Amino acid sequence: MPSKNTLKELRRQAAQKQAWLCFYCQLPMWDAGPTEFLAQYAISPALAKRFQCTAEHLEAKSDGGKDVQINIVAACIFCNATRHKAKYPLNATKHAAVVRLRMAKGKWHPPQVMAALAKRRMAPV
Ligand SMILES: [Zn+2]
Repeated sequence: MPSKNTLKELRRQAAQKQAWLCFYCQLPMWDAGPTEFLAQYAISPALAKRFQCTAEHLEAKSDGGKDVQINIVAACIFCNATRHKAKYPLNATKHAAVVRLRMAKGKWHPPQVMAALAKRRMAPV
């Protein structure tokens, strides 16, 4: 079985490929700790918690999904947990469609968070 470190490495590789934007909601995520994130986006620690970067298995582990690069994307803990919390979890593609639809309507993350993070995302680096 792959070690925990392998999954962490796969998650980091995926996050880098995604420019540290959540696979589902496309908002920025933090990795080691939220300190910089809090300073950068000026949102509350409670709200920042949901943007912790997690490894998301496209094919869920419960369905036999493996810890391999092709099956791992980086997602914020909120989007990740929301998918797997459902009684009948959607597959990753369908969950992504639901999240993006709700994001477009401003009904996924709290409005103040969406505003703060989306603004920063579009600002030139
Ligand atoms: Zn997300």
